Parts: sequence; C-alpha cells; structure tokens
Amino acid sequence: MTCFGCRDKTARFPPRSRGVKRPVKRQRSLAVQSVGIIGAGIMGSGIAQTVASKGMDVILTDVSLENAEKGKAGIAKSLAKLVAKEKIIQADADALLARITPAADYSAMSACDLIIEAATEREDIKHKIFEAAGKVLGAGAIMASNTSSIPITRMAASSPDAARFCGLHFFNPVPLMGLVEVIPGLATSQDTIDRMKAFGEKLGKTVVLAGDEPGFVVNRILCPMLNEAIFVLGAGIGSVEDIDAGCKIGLNHPMGPLTLADFVGLDTLLEIMKVFHSTTGDPKYRPAPLLQKYVEAGWYGRKSGKGFYDYSGETPVPSR
Ligand code: NAD
Repeated sequence: MTCFGCRDKTARFPPRSRGVKRPVKRQRSLAVQSVGIIGAGIMGSGIAQTVASKGMDVILTDVSLENAEKGKAGIAKSLAKLVAKEKIIQADADALLARITPAADYSAMSACDLIIEAATEREDIKHKIFEAAGKVLGAGAIMASNTSSIPITRMAASSPDAARFCGLHFFNPVPLMGLVEVIPGLATSQDTIDRMKAFGEKLGKTVVLAGDEPGFVVNRILCPMLNEAIFVLGAGIGSVEDIDAGCKIGLNHPMGPLTLADFVGLDTLLEIMKVFHSTTGDPKYRPAPLLQKYVEAGWYGRKSGKGFYDYSGETPVPSR
C-alpha cells in the first residue's frame, strides 16, 4: 500500500546540487501570428479586420464559404469608406484584405496560433463548433470564444484542452472599441491568460480580466440596462425617441439604449438575457416581452434593417 505521507519526495524532486545547471526548457514563441475566426457576422468581421490591420493572417469561416466571403466583402466596404475619408491609404486597405482568406471549412486553421469563435450566441451551436474545430487545433494553439454571456468553463468541456481555452470578449464595432475582456475558465492556464493579454495589447486594446460569471463585467452591467429600456418602452413610460434622448443627454451616454440595442442586435440581446436568467435564476434578468416580440417579427436591429428604428432611409426613424 502506498503511504502518500511517507513517499520519498527526493526521488521525484532531487535536490539541486551547486554548480550543476538544469537544462533550460526551449521557450515557445508567445506571439500570435495567424488567427482562425469562426463566424463572419458583425463581430467576426470586425475581429478579422482588426487582426489583419496588425499584420496577422486570418482564416475566416461561417456556415458556408459564401457567408465567409460576404463577411470579407463587408470589411472591404468599411475599408473603402476609410479610404474615401483619407483615414487610410488604398495600398494599406489592399494589404489588409489580402491577409484575410475566407474558407469553406476549418482545415486551414490547423496552422493558426489562435482560433476565435464569434458565431451566433447559441450554446448548442458553439459546442458543435469547438468539437469540430478542436480536431484541427494545433498543439499549443489557443481556442477562444467571443461569447457575450455563455459560461466559459462549460464551453471548455467541448474543446480539446480546457487549459488552452478562454473567453476573449470584444466590443462592437471592434476596430473602434478599445477594450477586450479576457475571461479564464476554471482550467485555463496562466500561459493562456498571458498570451491572450499580449494578443489583446498587440491589437492596441486595453485588456481587463473578468470572472467567468454571466455577462462577465461589462455586459453584466450593460445588458440589464438595455433590457430595462425595452421594459420602459413596453410599459408606455416613454417613446423610443424620448427614452434615447433622455438617457443620451441625462446620463451623458454617447447613444441611447434603444439605438445601442439595435446596434448590438436584438436577437443577440435576447439570447444574452435568456442566459443571464437561466444561469442565475434571478427574475430581474427576465427578457422584456417586447424584446421577444421584436425578435419574433424578425426585427433584429441594424443588421436586418429594422429594430426600434427603421434604417431604410437616410436617417433612422422609430419603427412604430
Ligand atoms: P451575427 O448574427 O452578426 O453573426 C453571427 C454569425 O455566425 C453569422 O454570420 C452566422 O451565419 C454565423 N454562424 C452561425 N452558426 C455558425 C456555425 N455553426 N459555424 C460558423 N458560423 C456560424 O452575430 P454577432 O453580433 O457577430 O455575434 C457573434 C458572437 O459575438 C456572439 O457570441 C455574440 O454574443 C458575441 N458578441 C456580440 C456583440 C455585439 O454587439 N453584437 C458584442 C460582443 C460579443
């Protein structure tokens, strides 16, 4: 029988003798050079643009090659606007776009140092992605999720190595917003945290560490406020314009909560509130009934052309 208390520790950890140097372990390069991005919607495209703008190569996928190419075309459109405004030169825009390769599947991601999942905010979808992309994840490469609300530790279970899995939460629009939250799961290694912090800084962002709790830090505060604004609208306490003007001017926010909800995507906001509600069991996080209704109508906000505002004209007008 083994007596753990009596185990001869010196057998495993021999004392260091003076003057005898231990072999130095070869240091693996920490810098991320190439990134796989899964999901080419609002966030995936924004992350791809930002990563490529810092000289890194990107493999971009979605549910189909066509969708991934649509994501790249959206980036080209944004860059054309920046060129027109003389914020960047055409040659830089061309070089940035050349670094982004749309792909039909994950095979090319086997050479990536980091794979970032930025697909629809549904846990079942994300688990399937981690299982499939995990098959090509390189030894030493990191897998990260841009989820807004789904627990990192729970998703890590579908990845090949929970020590190399973490949350990497960007803000919309990614090229302009200066923050990234790094969210370690229970098993995330310190090496993974350090490399993700360095990656965020390489992108020119400020990095904050957040705990693996619903909404992490920023969304835990923001999303209930957006949801509450929709409750206020549903209760007839204020009109779309008055709620937005009230918060914008009265709280000194850069935009009103309904404008911001449209910008985030009402489908995404609804999924986030559902996760808060189900994970905490706290009724204060229940989604506003009007939010549910807008999503049922297919009014997802800016991305579908209509949400609390109608975006078909020159300037947005309240949709009802
Ligand atoms: P979106 O609806 O704009 O894009 C989601 C994309 O994922 C779509 O192109 C869709 O086709 C794709 N997709 C769906 N299933 C897929 C699959 N199996 N494989 C590959 N791609 C798939 O949504 P978004 O706003 O870009 O959100 C993406 C993620 O980023 C979500 O987890 C969301 O919570 C998070 N996020 C969103 C915001 C925001 O403001 N919108 C901010 C931070 C984080």
